[in-house]
Amino acid sequence: MSSNRNKVLKALKTNREAQIADKPQVTKKISEFFGENTFNLQKMQEYLPEHTFLRFLSTIKECTKIDAETVESIAKGLKKWALDRGATHYTHWFQPLTGATAEKHDTFFKPSFDGASQGIERLTVSELVQREADASSLPSGGLRGTNLARGYTIWDPSSPAFILESKNGKTLYIPAIFISHTGESLDYKTPLLKSAELLNQAATSVCHFFDENVKSVYATLGLEQEYFVIDKNFYYARPDLMLCGRTLFGANSPKGQQKEDHYFASIPERIQNFIVDFENEAFRVGIPVTSRHNEVAPCQYEVAPMFEELNVAIDHNLLLMEIMKRVGERHNLHVIFHEKPFAGINGSGKHNNWSLSTEKGKNLLSPTSDPGNNLSFLTFIINIIKAMNDYSDILRASIATPGNDHRLGANEAPPAIMSIYTGTYLQNMLNYFKTKGLGAPKPTVENIDLEIPKIPQFNLDIADRNRTSPFPFTSNKFEFRAVGSSANCGLPMIYLNTLVAHQLIEFKNEVNAQIKKGIDKQKAIISILQNYLKSSEKIIFNGDNYSPEWEKEATKRGLSNNKNMPRALNILNKKEYANIFIKNKIFNQNEINARLEICLEDYIKSTEIEMILIQQITQTHILPTANDCIQKLNENYEGLDEIGLKNDAESIKKEAQQILKITKEIKKLIADMTAAANDAHHKKSHYETALFFAENVKPFFEKIRNQADRLELLIDDDDWKLPKYREMLFIR
Ligand code: ADP
Ligand code: MG
Repeated sequence: MSSNRNKVLKALKTNREAQIADKPQVTKKISEFFGENTFNLQKMQEYLPEHTFLRFLSTIKECTKIDAETVESIAKGLKKWALDRGATHYTHWFQPLTGATAEKHDTFFKPSFDGASQGIERLTVSELVQREADASSLPSGGLRGTNLARGYTIWDPSSPAFILESKNGKTLYIPAIFISHTGESLDYKTPLLKSAELLNQAATSVCHFFDENVKSVYATLGLEQEYFVIDKNFYYARPDLMLCGRTLFGANSPKGQQKEDHYFASIPERIQNFIVDFENEAFRVGIPVTSRHNEVAPCQYEVAPMFEELNVAIDHNLLLMEIMKRVGERHNLHVIFHEKPFAGINGSGKHNNWSLSTEKGKNLLSPTSDPGNNLSFLTFIINIIKAMNDYSDILRASIATPGNDHRLGANEAPPAIMSIYTGTYLQNMLNYFKTKGLGAPKPTVENIDLEIPKIPQFNLDIADRNRTSPFPFTSNKFEFRAVGSSANCGLPMIYLNTLVAHQLIEFKNEVNAQIKKGIDKQKAIISILQNYLKSSEKIIFNGDNYSPEWEKEATKRGLSNNKNMPRALNILNKKEYANIFIKNKIFNQNEINARLEICLEDYIKSTEIEMILIQQITQTHILPTANDCIQKLNENYEGLDEIGLKNDAESIKKEAQQILKITKEIKKLIADMTAAANDAHHKKSHYETALFFAENVKPFFEKIRNQADRLELLIDDDDWKLPKYREMLFIR
């Protein structure tokens, strides 16, 4: 009873009970503290001179350049607000290509050199706007040599600054972009803001076909975040969870998710306490979290905020993940964002609900009451379908991460094929439009009479949902569901914005060319859209995306099924694809190459870390336990043999032989895996190395695991060192 696992199990009971016994706190209304730690528009109005505030507002709304005087005034107001709230430090907060956020804190306090005073608290204009980051250790994919380390973080005024509190102090966080000395982007936010502006320009000019008064268009984003929560003690006793974020070993629990009794079930009290705590922290920094529920897998949950402008929504998602991890610590819980932390049960995603809105808040993807005659709605929907049809490979590349490889295209996961679900109503309408143009019948919703008088009248939606589609249309938005739960979804959103904008520009040019030829505008729009629909049929699939038939059907249709990250990424080497980003000034060729290199290196490193850990865990946890077990069985055998129980002794001997055989098999697999990994490093490029790791090294992971998991089921429960699935998943 000396293993870590047993210590954890002993400590757990008292731990958990103490935590649940905490008295509920008296809560305030959310509206009383929402955004109290954010420098939002209300605070700005309070802390800035009126003309500064108004100028700032118009800068943000009309996407114009912010002037020096406004910046100076904001620096003063922001400092005053932060000091009033007790902040002592500030930091630029940015999103390097590690996928995590980065920060470097400085004090507001500046000591005086003449000794006449203690010093003062200050935030200069240049401190607000621009910080130099000697961040040579952050990935640059060759955009900077290690000797050329200069990088800059530059304030992003469109995302509000906020204060984070720890027990001993408060720090002001200023959202920022991160670029190199040559102006090339080293982060997710810079290209995201460029893509948002491109989309604004493209969509606004298309809006002008229908309404001259539209001033700007922005993408809206609502991010449903799935996650797992386990007791922190289990995390400490599982080196694989600690270093890789997922379990590399572990026999399935006899009860997993098969009874479907976790989804939407009542939230366990300890988890509910944690959720309420992190939600309150989120509210205080202005993150509008709205929904919480149990997800499908045991120990899996979801949190979803109200949608916001895309850039802010992404900042808020990253901040929310950070808050969840911190608050988890307080509750002795560990939050897992990995896409596939446990084999045999569902993984986690981050559903990107994406739509387009005018500056007045009109949703361009809302079907309205008569969508069949709403040419603006049809224009945007059909252009998005066309963009997906032509560039689905690029979108697939945008969600390729080491973790998402276990969720897409792996043995027990949805396929990595991109397709759109339109739903019956929209599909019927599009079919009508394709041949007849405007005038498809209005949606009719049949009401169901439940014949239970006490139940109030309710309304059905015009279409059902499809939870298996990677990119369904959901009433008034698209939901990109294939994004991984741990991802900075900046990347998929950069790609989506750019591809849709690129398509809208092409559409606008085609329409204008027709108009120039004297063709009526509406006629031109309709016939171009009809052609788009005819050439985009392959991308629409309304059936079950998880069925084996779909994989076959998709191959027939010519849709790609890139099952691993290196293959999915390699697509970006196609000149025609890279050119879309270059032509639209989202990335230059250097930036594209650098990003590919970073992703491939990340893939290689992540795979290698997992491989080394597999070697170590087998060597230090699994094989010693197996050997002890053989030893015990041997003693048992000798004992039985001595007292003449030959038959019983024989069966014990067989058990020992079986375990010995498995250990030999594991050792052989480890040796083969190590040899394959050596080969991987002799390849000509990072791409080839990564691909070799994916297809020739990684398959050993599962084989080794399968053998180790067999041992787990054969060996005395008391002796097994790693916390078991049933414990991690069901002790909440
Ligand atoms: P589901 O039933 O799909 O799980 P949720 O309520 O969990 O739905 O999440 C839906 C998400 O979609 C929310 O974040 C919501 O704010 C967001 N959403 C709703 N309308 C829009 C829109 N127009 N643009 C972007 N996101 C939207
Ligand atoms: Mg949801």
